[in-house]
Amino acid sequence: MICQRNDDLVDPEDACPTCGQRCIDRLIWIDDGEQVRCAACSTIYTPPMARPEGGDPDAAPTQ
Ligand SMILES: [Zn+2]
Repeated sequence: MICQRNDDLVDPEDACPTCGQRCIDRLIWIDDGEQVRCAACSTIYTPPMARPEGGDPDAAPTQ
């Protein structure tokens, strides 16, 4: 099953590393928001977006 709407897709770097799944409905947060389980292939991984707050100050400029 492939998502058709861009609004339901995560960023490419946050996609499943095994099957490339990007549908947000297929990527389930586990372990208190630190890891994601891909419902399509059962891979569990830590997406870049799970970085601790303040880990990348250039990512969100506050001006
Ligand atoms: Zn997958």
